[in-house]
Amino acid sequence: MKYHVFIDFDGTITEKDVGYDFFKHFAKGMAEPVVQRYRNGEIGAVECLQKECDIYNEYPAPAREVKDFIRSQKVSAGFREFVDFCQSHDVRLTILSAGFDFYINPILNDLGLSHLDVLSTPTFIKHGRINPEFIHFDEAICPGCANCKGERIKELTVADEFPVFIGDGHSDSHGAEQAKLVFAKSFLAEYLEKHKIEYIYYNDFFDVINEFRRLRKMTD
Ligand SMILES: [Mg+2]
Ligand SMILES: [Zn+2]
Repeated sequence: MKYHVFIDFDGTITEKDVGYDFFKHFAKGMAEPVVQRYRNGEIGAVECLQKECDIYNEYPAPAREVKDFIRSQKVSAGFREFVDFCQSHDVRLTILSAGFDFYINPILNDLGLSHLDVLSTPTFIKHGRINPEFIHFDEAICPGCANCKGERIKELTVADEFPVFIGDGHSDSHGAEQAKLVFAKSFLAEYLEKHKIEYIYYNDFFDVINEFRRLRKMTD
């Protein structure tokens, strides 16, 4: 049996929720009520993300500012080390995000990690306007998620694999419910507490590495 680790991007691989902060910063808080409606369960993720783009697209930011914003994002402590750990222990990694490729890909690129498997929401940028293409959305299967992590885990876990999920947010609940071992913090940890679903609390990826070492008695 092998571990297959599915990792959320925003607020998990990065210190902050890049997508949320992007719209908060550039749409100057105008998208905030939309996000609150999503977080309260009043609207689905696709409607939320599309509306955030629509609001932003009225006054798209200059390309240079967008680039600087993306460049300024910090990666969570221990993430690099965790990727190395997985590689040397034959642990498969897949990044699952409902967030957008236009910031996820450059951040991974800057880390020299563009080879990692990522399933995110592609975007088509024209005249600075962000047009998301919700290619992973399937209303019949999961109307709430833009890229249902539970469904992706079902599809991508092969027979001898043990699915693990690491996340922090509202869009992670189905992923956490599907995985056999969950690392959670923030909103996701609150959700799992509320629904009495077992999880391991973590602060950063050093905690995750230590837990993996403990579980499998893995050593360098
Ligand atoms: Mg997140
Ligand atoms: Zn879902």
